[in-house]
Parts: sequence; structure tokens; C-alpha cells
Amino acid sequence: MTAPRLEIDIGKVHHNACVLVDRLAARGIAACGVTKATLGSPDVARAWLDAGVTGLGDARIENIESLRRAGVAAPMMLVRSPMLSQVDRVVTAADMSLNTELAVIRGLAAAAAATGRTHRIVLMVELGDLREGIMPGDLAEVVRAVLAMPGVALAGIGTNLACQSGVSPDAANMGELSVLVAEIEARFGLVLDVVSGGNSANLDWALGPDSPGRINHLRLGEALLLGREPLHRRPVAGLHTDAFTVTGEVIESKRKPSVARGTIAQTAFGAVPVADGRDGRDGRDGRDDSGDGGDHGDRHRTIVALGRQDVDPAGLLAPTGMAVIGASSDHLVLDAGARRLAVGAEVTFEVDYSALVRAMTSPFVAKVVTGTYDDRGAPAAVAG
Ligand SMILES: *Cc1c(COP(=O)(O)O)cnc(C)c1O
Repeated sequence: MTAPRLEIDIGKVHHNACVLVDRLAARGIAACGVTKATLGSPDVARAWLDAGVTGLGDARIENIESLRRAGVAAPMMLVRSPMLSQVDRVVTAADMSLNTELAVIRGLAAAAAATGRTHRIVLMVELGDLREGIMPGDLAEVVRAVLAMPGVALAGIGTNLACQSGVSPDAANMGELSVLVAEIEARFGLVLDVVSGGNSANLDWALGPDSPGRINHLRLGEALLLGREPLHRRPVAGLHTDAFTVTGEVIESKRKPSVARGTIAQTAFGAVPVADGRDGRDGRDGRDDSGDGGDHGDRHRTIVALGRQDVDPAGLLAPTGMAVIGASSDHLVLDAGARRLAVGAEVTFEVDYSALVRAMTSPFVAKVVTGTYDDRGAPAAVAG
């Protein structure tokens, strides 16, 4: 088969979504499947919808448009604030968007009204992570302006934590969101349909002992795709962490010294090399990454035709007993441990979010969908 390739096991993708949809439904929370790391893959979107996600989200209007072109029928949400220059495309392809700027909402309203549509607005509130969000004290004023605008409807409010500053969702900040919902509803005499508590980083909180309060919606990408929660990158019980894998082909396999020879300066990507034939990273591969620079004698070094133009090498998890020593644009150097890999053999790696995104966006990496799943019938319903 062609290499390098990203294999998407659609059965595992579907399984992960079934498990999370049901666990969240038991807490009264709907799951929105965020497709951006897959560039809006229609296969992934369909598997998620079959598993019971209530809608799809993406940060890029291009991906939402390609889902529409592929005939995927579902409510779709743009999860990054729309660009003012794209409001026409946004109201055409997306039903709803997350917003923080009145200038953009005015643009969306005008574009929607001009085509007889109503675009749904979720106002994002800043609750500590310091990425997108209206300051809580300014929320009521923005709500008042949105309610007065034809062409848009206020669907709800939401927040995003963890991505920028690593702020964990907890009883305090989620409680604050519920209080804001109650205040807005009381002040304006309305009921907010969507209270979007956050992303995959909210899972531990959402499935933990705290009451979800008014939060009834989460936007999930990483947890569905890779089976890990992003605060500590721990596997989520019952989920597959290998629904996505990257496979590369061996182009050289030789015994070589573990220490480079000559005057040592910068490498192709500017790093100061680790000389001991270890990857010097994070211990994910289960090896000693002490990086002691010592001479470990001759070792089997294997080169895989895979590089920074294909993946983020730091985000690859090598098979047990192997370790990534380093990578440049096109060459990935592996310590294959006790194994001797023949030229032409393939090596398959698990990926983290960064490696997944790079592989999805690389024109050199073939995308191959494998596996199947059975129709699960009706998934657990979410009240409200
Ligand atoms: C990317 C994104 C998500 C999904 O994040 P994951 O960590 O992959 O679950 C949710 N909300 C917003 C605003 C995003 O940009």
C-alpha cells in the first residue's frame, strides 16, 4: 500500500463517539463533533452522526463547505469567530457560529437578512483562559444588541478553556457560566437553548461529581478522535487511542555508531543534537530518555521515509521497543531496539493531536479509511 499514509479506523472513530455521546447524555449534555483536525472529513462526520452527536463544528468555513458539498446533513457550527470578510460564506454554509465581536455579528446579520436566513449566534464569554471571549461584565450589553438585530438569533452562550493558558474547567468557572445564563435569562425574559461549556478539556469535569448546572453542550474534537483528555493527555477509559495511525516505509536499515563523528553544530532544524541515540523527549515510548550523551556502542538505526513535511515527529508514538531519535524534513531516524527492520518494511505510529493535524494537512500523506461499524440504532437521548 502507498506510504506514508494516515489510516483512519472508522469503526474505532464510531466507537469512541458512541461511548462519549452516551456518557454525556446521562449528564444532560449534547456532544458536538469538531471536525477541524480531520479537515472536515465526511467519513468521520458521518460516523459521529451515526453515533449520535447532535451537530458538527469546525474552525474553518472551508471545512464546513466541503462537508456540505459531500452531502453531510447536520446542524453545523463555526467554532472560531467568523472573519468579517467571510460572513457571506458563514451564513450560507453554517447554521450557527461562536462570536465575540458586535462588528462581526452585524456583518452576519446583514448577510443573513439579505438572503432571508436567520443565523444562530452563541456568545463566547471569557472565564480565565484569555483566548476568545466577551468579558462577563460586558455580556448583557452585547446580548441586548444581538436581540435587536434582524437576521440573527441568540442561540446561547459558551466559553472555551484550556487551549490558550491551560485553565482547567472546574466547579468555579463552570458555575460562573451557569450563573451568567441565569442572569441573562432573568434580565431579558428568555431561555437560552445552547450553553456550550467548552471542549475535550471539559470531559473530566463533565463526567465527574460536580453538577453540570446549566451546561448542556460540549464541542469535542481530540477526545473523540484520539481517545484522550487534553489536560493531562491521559487515555479516556473505554476509548481507542489508535483510531488514527501514521505508517511510513523503511528506506535504510544499518548498524551505526550511537555517537556522531566530527565537529558538532546545529542540525537542519536548529536543534543541538542529542548524541546518544535516544530521543531525549518525553518518555512516552517507555525508554530511558536521560539524554546522557554517552556512547552506547553500535546500534541499529533505521530510516523511515517520513519527516516534518508529513507529521510532527515529536507527536509520534513509536511501536513498543522502538524510539524516534530525530527527524528532518524527509527522514525519520528510528532506534529499532532489538528489531532489525528490512528496507521496504512498514512502521506504524500512534499520533498526538499535533502529528494528526500535520498528517491531515500534508499533501504527501495518503488518507485511507479502514474498518466498518454496525448501525447502533437510536443513541441515548439528551433531554432538552
Ligand atoms: C478546536 C475547538 C474545539 C474542540 O477542541 P478539542 O480540544 O479538540 O475538543 C472546541 N471549541 C473551540 C472554540 C475550538 O476552537
